[in-house]
Amino acid sequence: MTTNPDRIVERSESGTPLTPDDALQILSPQLQGEALKRVFKAADIRMRKISGNRGRIWAAIGVDAVPCSRNCKFCSHGEAWGVYGQPYELSVDEVCERAKTLAQYNPDWLTLRFTQDFGIARICELACQVRQVRPGPQGRGQDSLEWRQGF
Ligand code: SF4
Repeated sequence: MTTNPDRIVERSESGTPLTPDDALQILSPQLQGEALKRVFKAADIRMRKISGNRGRIWAAIGVDAVPCSRNCKFCSHGEAWGVYGQPYELSVDEVCERAKTLAQYNPDWLTLRFTQDFGIARICELACQVRQVRPGPQGRGQDSLEWRQGF
């Protein structure tokens, strides 16, 4: 496969979706040296434009880490993989304590992570508790501080 970084960059800059062949070229080990630098530089320019040249802080708390019977092949929580020497589940107080600590750093997001069987009712209950520790307007301000619960 012949790599053509200029074509990839031009298509990207013009807003034209990349083709499957373009994607394969970006992933190709043949894309090296100056060609690779050109693609990375173009990606950096686009990313800064899209993000308003602002990085965001994403914080996460792993609420539980227990073997999961669903055994999704991509996930280390699957019980079939036997990776858990010591499963754990944080208490509400422990989660809130960690949320308070993370809040000092003004994260843009706080994600609570759970394994599949934690239960939606418990997640909602915990999310309500964690929202109590959300800081008031300071630093970047309350409006820019979004706390989202992921599961
Ligand atoms: S925790 Fe979620 S992703 Fe992981 S094995 Fe269980 S269901 Fe699958």
